[in-house]
Amino acid sequence: MSIGKIVKPASADLLHLTVLRTARLSPGWMRVTLGGGDVDRFAPMGYDQWMRLFLPIGGEAALDRVPAKANKVFGYLRFLRIPDGERPVMRNYSVRAHRAATAGAGAEIDVDFVLHGSAAEGTSGPAARWAETCSPGEHVLVIDEGLGFNPARGVQRVVLVGDETALPAIASISASLPATAVGAVIVESPSAADALDFPHPPGLEVRWIVRSDADAPGVLALSALRALELPAEPFHAWISGEQALASGARKLLVNERGVDRDRVSFAGYWRIGAASPASHAARDAAARPAA
Ligand SMILES: Cc1cc2nc3c(=O)[nH]c(=O)nc-3n(C[C@H](O)[C@H](O)[C@H](O)COP(=O)(O)OP(=O)(O)OC[C@H]3O[C@@H](n4cnc5c(N)ncnc54)[C@H](O)[C@@H]3O)c2cc1C
Repeated sequence: MSIGKIVKPASADLLHLTVLRTARLSPGWMRVTLGGGDVDRFAPMGYDQWMRLFLPIGGEAALDRVPAKANKVFGYLRFLRIPDGERPVMRNYSVRAHRAATAGAGAEIDVDFVLHGSAAEGTSGPAARWAETCSPGEHVLVIDEGLGFNPARGVQRVVLVGDETALPAIASISASLPATAVGAVIVESPSAADALDFPHPPGLEVRWIVRSDADAPGVLALSALRALELPAEPFHAWISGEQALASGARKLLVNERGVDRDRVSFAGYWRIGAASPASHAARDAAARPAA
C-alpha cells in the first residue's frame, strides 16, 4: 500500500491574522510575523506546513469578501468575482516557525519571503512586494494547507533539496525531525548573504550552493543531487523549489536511481517566468467559463 503523499490540516477555515512586525533578515529575505485575530485557531504541524495567504493588495475591505474554501475550485470561482484591483492576491507560503502563546504574548507565526526583484523598481511579484513594504497592523487571511512532507514516509534518514523558496520549509522540517535523524540537505541560494543558517540534527549534513546571476535557479542544486552519495535506503527524499528542480530531482531519484516513488515527496514552488498559479484548483477554475 502506498504511503499518503500529504497530511491534511486539522481545519481549512479562513483565519484572520495581523502583521505584528517585519524584519529584514538579509538583502533577499523579509520575515513577516503574523498573530492576533484567529491565531489561536491555527494548529501548528511543524515540518513543511504551508498556507494560502490572501494579501490586501487592493485594500483591506476586500478581505471580507474572500469566500470560505477560496483554495478550492468553487470557492476560487467566487473569489474571482471580487473585481480586479480589489481582489486580494493569493499566494502559497510556508510556516517558518510557530510560537505558542505565553502568559505575556499571543501565538506568533513567522513567514519568510524571498524578495525576488525590487519593490522600488517594480520588478518583484505582488507577494514579494507586499512583504517588503507591509506594516504592522495590516490584516491578511490564511488557509492552512497541512504538510507535503508526510512523516510516515520517514524521518530518520532524509535527503532534503531545495532552492531559496524551500529554505523556510527545510529549516522547519529540520526543526521537526528527531535529533537522531541523519542524511543530507542541499540548499541553493541566490547569494552568500542570503544563505541563512538554521538549527538541524547533527547527523544532517547541510550543503549550501550559491549560484551566480548566470545560473538558472535550481540547476546547481540538481547537479549537486546528481553527485550526492545517497544514504542507504529506505530514506525519505523531499525536494521543492523551481518547477524544473522539483520534477528533475524526482525523475533522477525514481527513474535513474530506482528510489521507491512512495519515499519521494516533491513540489514545484514556483516557475521561472510565470506568476504563481495559486493552486491546481485555481488552474482548473481558470480553465472554466466564468460562473
Ligand atoms: C507549498 C509552497 C510553499 C512556499 N513557501 C515559500 C516560502 O516560505 N517563502 C517564499 O519566498 N516562497 C515560498 N513559496 C514560493 C512562492 O509562493 C512563489 O515564489 C510565488 O510565486 C511568489 O509570489 P509573487 O507574488 O512574489 O510572484 P508571482 O506573481 O507569483 O511571480 C511574478 C514573477 O516572479 C517570478 N518569481 C516568483 N517567485 C520567484 C522567486 N522566488 N525567485 C525569482 N523569481 C520568482 C515568477 O517566475 C514570475 O515571473 C512557496 C510555494 C509553495 C507552493
